[in-house]
Amino acid sequence: MPELLGCVAEQALVDHHCHGVLYRDADRATLESMLNEGSGWPGGSVFDSQAGFAFRRLCPPVLGLPPHAELADYVIRRAELGANEVNQRFLVAAGLSALCVDTGFTPEAITSPAELGGLAGAAAHEIVRLERVAEDVVAAGIGADGFAEAVRSALATRTASAVGVKSIAAYRTGLDLGPERPSDPEVTAAAGRWLAALGAGSPRIADETLQRFLIWCGVDLGLPVQFHVGYGDSDVDLHRCNPLLLTPLLRAIQPTGVPVMLLHNYPFHREAGYLAQVFPHVYVDAGLATHNLGTRASTLLAEALELAPYGKFLYSSDAFGLPELYYLGAALFRTALSGFLAAGLQEDLFTERTVVRLTRMLCADNAKRAYGLGNQM
Ligand SMILES: [Zn+2]
Repeated sequence: MPELLGCVAEQALVDHHCHGVLYRDADRATLESMLNEGSGWPGGSVFDSQAGFAFRRLCPPVLGLPPHAELADYVIRRAELGANEVNQRFLVAAGLSALCVDTGFTPEAITSPAELGGLAGAAAHEIVRLERVAEDVVAAGIGADGFAEAVRSALATRTASAVGVKSIAAYRTGLDLGPERPSDPEVTAAAGRWLAALGAGSPRIADETLQRFLIWCGVDLGLPVQFHVGYGDSDVDLHRCNPLLLTPLLRAIQPTGVPVMLLHNYPFHREAGYLAQVFPHVYVDAGLATHNLGTRASTLLAEALELAPYGKFLYSSDAFGLPELYYLGAALFRTALSGFLAAGLQEDLFTERTVVRLTRMLCADNAKRAYGLGNQM
């Protein structure tokens, strides 16, 4: 692995989009199912991939094994140490100073933001998922007539100590959302249609009017609004996740000054960079893709920073479940950033002082400023 610039190696990261990690041990099947957004198939392994080889090169040494250790040996060592020790080792090795944790996705028991912060030795903040709040309101028995008010009230309560909200409209309707704020009668009618169509099981919101309503509720709270964009699991229709589809809505939100954070973005990271350049309230990251692209993360970062202002790019891991993903995201981001800055030094584009300043911005200060974390750290 190339040696990092000193300032990049030493700089703690603010991870502005991430999730809890598993309490339980991860066996081979768990590693196979959680390494990336896909799943195994008969006779194959997800580890035969960019993410897999980055994992095998970088993760074993954190557990005291040589690089490239066999997965069978890795799983044995992981079980010997136990989930808590493994979680702590990788989270500490990621070198984080603060986390913004999305608490809306819990297919199984995972750590809370406070537990995650304790493991990482970092400040932990919550990001509230908008759809989850609306679904909880409906699960509690609220009907269409009371829906709008109940959601606003629940969101006010849930975000009292949160630093942002998140929309997963990308997973539900796609990003081709109208710009208008829906009126309460429109929300009531849409909620009525949604509730009438609900089957058994937990409610799942997927309605263009309601997604828009939730986003505007988030804007009204004055908190940064995160959007899932691009790359995700097979539940996403990727062709509906180009961030350019958000352009009319971004234009409508702009006068409020509320920051909009476009998450992941791959393979639309260049489009997202364009949006960050032309809209003062739009910020971008390359989370999730950074560790999935392995050695190509350097190209990803360089492409994301073609148009995105350097003051509008944030670090995120989008780690979920496996603490290894926190470490891989951080290590590959540092390698990519160090390479990007070293190339600039060599081309006499950056001075040493510029490199130090950009490192602070891209790793931590942009996120602190956008989320107002400054006073809490
Ligand atoms: Zn995520």
